[in-house]
Amino acid sequence: MDVHTVARIIMDEHTLDRLRGCVVGAAIGDALGMPLEFKSPSPPDRLVSEMLPGRLPAGSFTDDTEMALALADSLLHHAHLDGSDLAQRFAAWYETGPSDVGVQTSQVLSRIARGETWEKAAEKVFQQNPNSAGNGSLMRAWPVALAHFNSPEWLVADSLLQSRVTHPHPDCMAACALACLMIWQLSQGTSPAATFETALTKVDLAADFQQMLADAPLRRRSELKSSGWVRHTLESALWGLLATHSFEEAVVQVANLGNDADTAASVTGALAGAAYGLSAIPPTWLDQLQGEWPLRSGLRWHTPDFIHLADRLIDVEGKYK
Ligand SMILES: [Mg+2]
Repeated sequence: MDVHTVARIIMDEHTLDRLRGCVVGAAIGDALGMPLEFKSPSPPDRLVSEMLPGRLPAGSFTDDTEMALALADSLLHHAHLDGSDLAQRFAAWYETGPSDVGVQTSQVLSRIARGETWEKAAEKVFQQNPNSAGNGSLMRAWPVALAHFNSPEWLVADSLLQSRVTHPHPDCMAACALACLMIWQLSQGTSPAATFETALTKVDLAADFQQMLADAPLRRRSELKSSGWVRHTLESALWGLLATHSFEEAVVQVANLGNDADTAASVTGALAGAAYGLSAIPPTWLDQLQGEWPLRSGLRWHTPDFIHLADRLIDVEGKYK
Protein backbone atom coordinates (compact mmCIF):
# COMPACT_ATOMS: atom_id res chain seq x y z
CA MET A 1 0.00 0.00 0.00
CA ASP A 2 1.57 3.31 -1.04
CA VAL A 3 1.47 6.50 1.05
CA HIS A 4 -1.31 8.01 -1.03
CA THR A 5 -3.54 4.99 -0.45
CA VAL A 6 -2.87 5.18 3.27
CA ALA A 7 -3.70 8.90 3.27
CA ARG A 8 -6.97 8.20 1.47
CA ILE A 9 -8.05 5.85 4.22
CA ILE A 10 -6.76 7.72 7.23
CA MET A 11 -8.12 11.15 8.02
CA ASP A 12 -7.69 11.40 11.76
CA GLU A 13 -9.62 13.95 13.76
CA HIS A 14 -6.55 16.13 14.38
CA THR A 15 -5.80 16.47 10.68
CA LEU A 16 -9.43 17.27 9.95
CA ASP A 17 -9.43 19.89 12.74
CA ARG A 18 -6.33 21.52 11.26
CA LEU A 19 -7.69 21.57 7.71
CA ARG A 20 -10.96 23.07 8.93
CA GLY A 21 -8.86 25.51 10.97
CA CYS A 22 -7.12 26.68 7.79
CA VAL A 23 -10.41 27.53 6.06
CA VAL A 24 -12.09 29.17 9.04
CA GLY A 25 -8.82 30.80 10.10
CA ALA A 26 -8.35 32.51 6.73
CA ALA A 27 -11.85 34.06 6.92
CA ILE A 28 -11.39 35.03 10.60
CA GLY A 29 -8.07 36.76 9.86
CA ASP A 30 -9.70 38.65 6.99
CA ALA A 31 -12.58 39.81 9.23
CA LEU A 32 -10.29 40.78 12.13
CA GLY A 33 -8.06 42.79 9.78
CA MET A 34 -10.94 44.45 7.91
CA PRO A 35 -11.34 47.51 10.23
CA LEU A 36 -7.54 47.91 10.47
CA GLU A 37 -6.91 48.05 6.71
CA PHE A 38 -4.97 51.17 5.61
CA LYS A 39 -4.42 52.15 9.28
CA SER A 40 -1.02 52.77 10.90
CA PRO A 41 0.34 49.95 13.08
CA SER A 42 -1.43 49.80 16.46
CA PRO A 43 0.67 50.75 19.52
CA PRO A 44 2.08 47.49 20.95
CA ASP A 45 0.19 47.97 24.24
CA ARG A 46 -3.15 48.62 22.49
CA LEU A 47 -3.57 45.77 20.03
CA VAL A 48 -7.09 45.22 18.72
CA SER A 49 -8.20 41.68 19.50
CA GLU A 50 -11.96 42.01 19.00
CA MET A 51 -13.98 41.90 15.82
CA LEU A 52 -14.71 45.59 15.21
CA PRO A 53 -16.90 47.23 12.58
CA GLY A 54 -15.11 49.08 9.78
CA ARG A 55 -16.48 49.83 6.34
CA LEU A 56 -18.45 46.58 6.91
CA PRO A 57 -20.19 45.27 10.07
CA ALA A 58 -18.03 43.56 12.72
CA GLY A 59 -16.97 40.04 11.76
CA SER A 60 -17.39 40.58 8.01
CA PHE A 61 -15.00 38.94 5.59
CA THR A 62 -13.89 40.85 2.48
CA ASP A 63 -12.72 40.33 -1.12
CA ASP A 64 -9.86 38.07 0.06
CA THR A 65 -12.30 35.45 1.27
CA GLU A 66 -14.76 36.06 -1.56
CA MET A 67 -12.11 35.32 -4.18
CA ALA A 68 -11.01 32.24 -2.23
CA LEU A 69 -14.64 31.05 -2.24
CA ALA A 70 -14.75 31.54 -6.04
CA LEU A 71 -11.57 29.45 -6.32
CA ALA A 72 -13.08 26.84 -4.01
CA ASP A 73 -16.21 26.66 -6.19
CA SER A 74 -14.04 26.13 -9.25
CA LEU A 75 -12.09 23.33 -7.53
CA LEU A 76 -15.32 21.66 -6.46
CA HIS A 77 -16.35 21.51 -10.14
CA HIS A 78 -12.91 20.68 -11.59
CA ALA A 79 -10.78 18.56 -9.29
CA HIS A 80 -7.78 19.67 -11.35
CA LEU A 81 -8.08 23.38 -11.75
CA ASP A 82 -9.37 24.72 -15.07
CA GLY A 83 -7.98 28.24 -15.63
CA SER A 84 -10.88 29.28 -17.89
CA ASP A 85 -13.52 28.15 -15.40
CA LEU A 86 -11.70 29.97 -12.59
CA ALA A 87 -11.36 33.14 -14.69
CA GLN A 88 -15.09 33.09 -15.48
CA ARG A 89 -15.97 32.69 -11.78
CA PHE A 90 -13.66 35.58 -10.83
CA ALA A 91 -15.15 37.74 -13.61
CA ALA A 92 -18.71 36.89 -12.49
CA TRP A 93 -17.78 37.94 -8.94
CA TYR A 94 -16.18 41.14 -10.27
CA GLU A 95 -19.35 42.03 -12.20
CA THR A 96 -21.49 41.82 -9.05
CA GLY A 97 -19.65 44.93 -7.81
CA PRO A 98 -17.67 43.75 -4.76
CA SER A 99 -17.01 46.44 -2.15
CA ASP A 100 -13.27 45.97 -2.62
CA VAL A 101 -11.09 44.60 -5.40
CA GLY A 102 -7.32 44.84 -5.86
CA VAL A 103 -5.88 47.04 -8.61
CA GLN A 104 -4.19 44.31 -10.64
CA THR A 105 -7.10 41.91 -10.13
CA SER A 106 -9.49 44.59 -11.37
CA GLN A 107 -7.37 45.28 -14.46
CA VAL A 108 -7.30 41.61 -15.44
CA LEU A 109 -10.91 40.80 -14.56
CA SER A 110 -12.33 43.81 -16.43
CA ARG A 111 -10.63 42.48 -19.58
CA ILE A 112 -11.93 38.96 -19.00
CA ALA A 113 -15.43 40.36 -18.38
CA ARG A 114 -15.19 42.07 -21.79
CA GLY A 115 -14.49 38.71 -23.45
CA GLU A 116 -10.69 38.39 -23.49
CA THR A 117 -9.18 35.02 -22.61
CA TRP A 118 -7.56 34.94 -19.18
CA GLU A 119 -4.21 34.13 -20.76
CA LYS A 120 -4.30 37.25 -22.91
CA ALA A 121 -5.74 39.46 -20.16
CA ALA A 122 -3.15 38.41 -17.59
CA GLU A 123 -0.29 38.78 -20.08
CA LYS A 124 -1.38 42.26 -21.23
CA VAL A 125 -1.66 43.59 -17.69
CA PHE A 126 1.65 42.00 -16.73
CA GLN A 127 3.40 43.56 -19.75
CA GLN A 128 2.07 47.00 -18.78
CA ASN A 129 3.64 46.72 -15.35
CA PRO A 130 6.11 43.82 -15.22
CA ASN A 131 7.37 44.74 -11.75
CA SER A 132 3.94 44.65 -10.17
CA ALA A 133 3.73 41.77 -7.70
CA GLY A 134 0.70 42.33 -5.48
CA ASN A 135 -0.70 39.94 -2.90
CA GLY A 136 -4.01 39.38 -4.76
CA SER A 137 -3.37 35.73 -5.62
CA LEU A 138 -1.71 34.80 -2.31
CA MET A 139 -4.72 35.98 -0.30
CA ARG A 140 -7.04 33.48 -1.98
CA ALA A 141 -4.67 30.51 -2.44
CA TRP A 142 -5.66 28.26 0.49
CA PRO A 143 -8.47 26.22 -1.18
CA VAL A 144 -5.85 24.54 -3.40
CA ALA A 145 -4.12 23.09 -0.32
CA LEU A 146 -7.33 21.38 0.79
CA ALA A 147 -8.44 20.16 -2.63
CA HIS A 148 -5.02 18.60 -3.21
CA PHE A 149 -4.44 17.41 0.31
CA ASN A 150 -3.51 14.00 -1.11
CA SER A 151 -1.28 15.04 -4.00
CA PRO A 152 1.57 17.52 -3.45
CA GLU A 153 2.36 17.58 -7.17
CA TRP A 154 -1.11 18.84 -8.06
CA LEU A 155 -1.04 21.13 -5.06
CA VAL A 156 1.98 22.94 -6.46
CA ALA A 157 0.73 22.93 -10.07
CA ASP A 158 -2.68 24.37 -9.19
CA SER A 159 -1.22 26.88 -6.71
CA LEU A 160 0.82 28.28 -9.59
CA LEU A 161 -2.08 28.17 -12.05
CA GLN A 162 -4.56 29.93 -9.77
CA SER A 163 -2.01 32.74 -9.38
CA ARG A 164 -1.21 32.92 -13.10
CA VAL A 165 -4.85 33.78 -13.93
CA THR A 166 -4.41 37.29 -12.46
CA HIS A 167 -0.89 37.46 -10.99
CA PRO A 168 1.71 35.77 -13.25
CA HIS A 169 4.71 37.49 -11.60
CA PRO A 170 7.17 34.78 -10.44
CA ASP A 171 7.11 36.11 -6.85
CA CYS A 172 3.30 35.86 -6.71
CA MET A 173 3.28 32.33 -8.07
CA ALA A 174 6.10 31.18 -5.76
CA ALA A 175 4.37 32.73 -2.73
CA CYS A 176 1.17 30.78 -3.47
CA ALA A 177 3.06 27.50 -3.83
CA LEU A 178 4.95 28.13 -0.59
CA ALA A 179 1.81 28.98 1.39
CA CYS A 180 -0.11 25.94 0.11
CA LEU A 181 2.81 23.58 0.74
CA MET A 182 3.06 24.94 4.28
CA ILE A 183 -0.69 24.51 4.89
CA TRP A 184 -0.41 20.94 3.68
CA GLN A 185 2.55 20.09 5.90
CA LEU A 186 1.20 21.94 8.96
CA SER A 187 -2.04 20.00 8.64
CA GLN A 188 -0.02 16.78 9.03
CA GLY A 189 1.05 17.99 12.47
CA THR A 190 4.55 19.15 11.52
CA SER A 191 5.74 22.09 13.62
CA PRO A 192 5.65 25.58 12.07
CA ALA A 193 9.47 25.87 12.25
CA ALA A 194 10.11 22.52 10.56
CA THR A 195 7.41 23.19 7.98
CA PHE A 196 8.93 26.54 7.11
CA GLU A 197 12.44 25.11 6.80
CA THR A 198 11.26 22.41 4.39
CA ALA A 199 9.04 24.70 2.31
CA LEU A 200 11.87 27.18 1.72
CA THR A 201 13.87 24.45 -0.01
CA LYS A 202 10.97 23.12 -2.11
CA VAL A 203 9.81 26.31 -3.84
CA ASP A 204 11.64 28.12 -6.60
CA LEU A 205 12.10 31.56 -5.00
CA ALA A 206 14.29 34.42 -6.22
CA ALA A 207 17.41 34.51 -4.03
CA ASP A 208 16.61 37.87 -2.40
CA PHE A 209 12.99 36.84 -1.79
CA GLN A 210 14.14 33.62 -0.16
CA GLN A 211 16.54 35.53 2.09
CA MET A 212 13.81 37.99 3.04
CA LEU A 213 11.52 35.12 4.04
CA ALA A 214 14.27 33.29 5.91
CA ASP A 215 14.79 36.47 7.97
CA ALA A 216 11.06 37.04 8.56
CA PRO A 217 10.78 35.26 11.95
CA LEU A 218 13.62 37.44 13.31
CA ARG A 219 12.11 40.77 12.30
CA ARG A 220 11.09 43.32 14.87
CA ARG A 221 7.48 44.41 14.66
CA SER A 222 8.51 47.95 13.70
CA GLU A 223 10.40 46.64 10.65
CA LEU A 224 7.37 45.05 8.99
CA LYS A 225 5.65 47.11 6.29
CA SER A 226 2.73 44.74 5.58
CA SER A 227 1.96 46.53 2.32
CA GLY A 228 0.11 45.10 -0.69
CA TRP A 229 3.39 43.79 -2.12
CA VAL A 230 3.34 40.00 -2.03
CA ARG A 231 6.80 39.89 -0.43
CA HIS A 232 5.64 42.07 2.45
CA THR A 233 2.45 40.08 2.97
CA LEU A 234 4.22 36.74 3.11
CA GLU A 235 6.92 38.20 5.35
CA SER A 236 4.28 39.42 7.82
CA ALA A 237 2.35 36.15 7.73
CA LEU A 238 5.47 34.05 8.34
CA TRP A 239 6.52 36.35 11.17
CA GLY A 240 3.03 35.98 12.64
CA LEU A 241 3.14 32.20 12.43
CA LEU A 242 6.72 31.69 13.58
CA ALA A 243 7.20 34.40 16.23
CA THR A 244 4.03 33.57 18.22
CA HIS A 245 2.55 30.54 20.00
CA SER A 246 -1.20 30.48 19.28
CA PHE A 247 -3.72 31.15 16.52
CA GLU A 248 -5.06 34.17 18.39
CA GLU A 249 -1.65 35.72 18.99
CA ALA A 250 -0.58 35.19 15.38
CA VAL A 251 -3.58 36.88 13.72
CA VAL A 252 -3.81 39.68 16.33
CA GLN A 253 -0.15 40.56 15.88
CA VAL A 254 -0.37 40.64 12.08
CA ALA A 255 -3.75 42.39 11.79
CA ASN A 256 -2.40 45.14 14.06
CA LEU A 257 0.44 45.86 11.67
CA GLY A 258 -2.26 47.80 9.80
CA ASN A 259 -1.78 48.75 6.14
CA ASP A 260 -2.99 45.73 4.10
CA ALA A 261 -4.18 44.27 7.39
CA ASP A 262 -7.03 42.06 6.18
CA THR A 263 -4.94 40.30 3.56
CA ALA A 264 -1.88 39.77 5.78
CA ALA A 265 -4.08 38.53 8.64
CA SER A 266 -6.01 36.24 6.29
CA VAL A 267 -2.83 34.58 5.02
CA THR A 268 -1.65 34.30 8.62
CA GLY A 269 -5.02 32.84 9.62
CA ALA A 270 -4.81 30.15 6.94
CA LEU A 271 -1.32 29.11 8.12
CA ALA A 272 -1.98 29.41 11.86
CA GLY A 273 -5.36 27.68 11.45
CA ALA A 274 -3.60 24.76 9.78
CA ALA A 275 -1.03 24.72 12.60
CA TYR A 276 -3.34 24.96 15.63
CA GLY A 277 -6.69 23.76 14.27
CA LEU A 278 -10.27 24.96 14.38
CA SER A 279 -10.51 24.00 18.05
CA ALA A 280 -7.87 26.65 18.90
CA ILE A 281 -9.80 29.56 17.36
CA PRO A 282 -11.54 31.74 19.99
CA PRO A 283 -15.30 30.90 20.03
CA THR A 284 -16.32 34.59 20.17
CA TRP A 285 -14.63 35.11 16.81
CA LEU A 286 -16.30 31.99 15.38
CA ASP A 287 -19.70 33.33 16.48
CA GLN A 288 -19.16 36.69 14.78
CA LEU A 289 -17.86 35.58 11.37
CA GLN A 290 -20.24 36.60 8.61
CA GLY A 291 -20.59 37.57 4.98
CA GLU A 292 -22.56 37.01 1.81
CA TRP A 293 -21.68 34.40 -0.80
CA PRO A 294 -22.26 34.47 -3.71
CA LEU A 295 -22.42 38.28 -3.66
CA ARG A 296 -25.96 39.64 -4.20
CA SER A 297 -27.42 36.16 -3.61
CA GLY A 298 -28.79 36.99 -0.15
CA LEU A 299 -27.09 33.83 1.17
CA ARG A 300 -25.31 34.48 4.47
CA TRP A 301 -22.14 32.62 5.36
CA HIS A 302 -21.12 31.85 8.93
CA THR A 303 -18.54 29.55 10.53
CA PRO A 304 -20.50 26.27 9.94
CA ASP A 305 -20.58 27.07 6.21
CA PHE A 306 -16.79 27.35 6.13
CA ILE A 307 -16.44 24.06 8.03
CA HIS A 308 -18.74 22.38 5.52
CA LEU A 309 -16.71 23.87 2.66
CA ALA A 310 -13.49 22.49 4.18
CA ASP A 311 -15.00 19.01 4.30
CA ARG A 312 -16.21 19.23 0.70
CA LEU A 313 -12.83 20.46 -0.56
CA ILE A 314 -10.94 17.68 1.24
CA ASP A 315 -13.26 15.18 -0.37
CA VAL A 316 -13.39 16.80 -3.78
CA GLU A 317 -12.46 13.54 -5.49
CA GLY A 318 -14.72 11.42 -3.31
CA LYS A 319 -11.71 9.94 -1.52
CA TYR A 320 -13.28 9.65 1.90
CA LYS A 321 -16.76 8.47 0.94
MG1 LIG B 1 -9.77 42.63 1.53
